[in-house]
Amino acid sequence: MAIDFKILDFAHPLSILKLRRTLERTQWLPPGDLEAYQLERLQRILRHAYNNVPYYRRLFDRHDLKPADLQSMADLKKLPVLTKDEARRAGNSLHAKNAYRYLPKPHTTSGTTGRPLEFLLDRGSNTLEFVYYWRHWSWAGYRLGDKFAEISTNHFLRRPKLIDTATAWQPHLRRLLLNGARVSKRHALDMAKEIRRRKPRFIKGLASTLFYLAFCLEEAGVRDISFRAAFSTGEVLSKAYREKIASVLKCTVMDSYGHMERTAAISQCQLGGYHLNSDYGMMELIRTTSSSAFGTIIGRSVGTSLYNYAMPLIRYDIGDIIEMYTEPTRCRCGRSLPLVRTVRGRTQDIIKTPDGRYITAAFILPEFVSGVGFAQFVQESRGHMQILVVPTDDWNPDEQEKLKNCAGRLLGASMRVEIRTVRQSELVSDSTGKQPVVISKLKAEP
Ligand SMILES: [Zn+2]
Repeated sequence: MAIDFKILDFAHPLSILKLRRTLERTQWLPPGDLEAYQLERLQRILRHAYNNVPYYRRLFDRHDLKPADLQSMADLKKLPVLTKDEARRAGNSLHAKNAYRYLPKPHTTSGTTGRPLEFLLDRGSNTLEFVYYWRHWSWAGYRLGDKFAEISTNHFLRRPKLIDTATAWQPHLRRLLLNGARVSKRHALDMAKEIRRRKPRFIKGLASTLFYLAFCLEEAGVRDISFRAAFSTGEVLSKAYREKIASVLKCTVMDSYGHMERTAAISQCQLGGYHLNSDYGMMELIRTTSSSAFGTIIGRSVGTSLYNYAMPLIRYDIGDIIEMYTEPTRCRCGRSLPLVRTVRGRTQDIIKTPDGRYITAAFILPEFVSGVGFAQFVQESRGHMQILVVPTDDWNPDEQEKLKNCAGRLLGASMRVEIRTVRQSELVSDSTGKQPVVISKLKAEP
């Protein structure tokens, strides 16, 4: 989930413009041509993986396969699915031997899964990410250089001096940052003031953060703010979320779905269709059931990188549940990117602090420390948060202190934070047996 771009990663304009031209074209290709484009890129990445990535060379050999044996989505199933646990165990053997050529940078993400994973993202993959967002935003009328607002918790949490401020204006990026740790009725007034002053035309944020921002603006009596579009990411955008954001921010809400490992991306067009960006990555569904009522199949999403040569992921278990049309269905917008009916991904509880703030991004905290195998945030009462940590070998008292300080910055002095190390089996489960990253024992309003 790309919430906070590091803009310097994208400062290579020629490759950006080249890819922009390609992706502007591919979205309108006849379906057969789009598929051919995708399979050609797949072949390229399979050959690279076989020749340069030790993990995949062993895997291909074990299954007695060569890249040329995998010419279609159906052929790809001859390789096993790569689970996140398997990717963790494989470690550096998933890195290409010549990864340095692709200018990679290491990243750690826990996403909303609570369990950090380290991986490399290279320059080509950053270019793809930038152009993909650019294209999606263009569907709403965005032009490069337009002012936009972005709700970010990460930016403010990484800069302790800024943690109490509601906004930050970045003139070089034409970006107004709104502090995700300060979404409250009180701070909404400060944010509204800056929005009036800077006049961003678009806003981006986690679905839940956008919703709580809209809720707080409304509660604070702010009625005069509008955007051309709001781009929600990272979580399921429920009907209630969408309606509140659209009515308070007076804009179209365009949702998107992706993940930091960048094997799949789905984005909503201006007519509401969820398009699978098949020129970005390759997605398939496993363990499927069909729903004849809607002519769809529902299954667990598995993605394959078409970019990111430093660490290509093939048949990577993304894990979210996706519902797709069995027959190709064209959207009225005319794009041939396939239509997805629903994304049943991530939803999570919200933390409400005693000083009236709604915290939606506690799941990023494990990215600030080492040694966390899994972290679960349990709000026991209004003023008490328990963080349950399943430790790895790197966990030690210094890391515990670091996590406590970071959580303190995010949650504020009015919340008592207690950290306990536990075994995986001791984490709190919800009614479906899952162990969510954030659990609130309060009844959150609204
Ligand atoms: Zn469409």
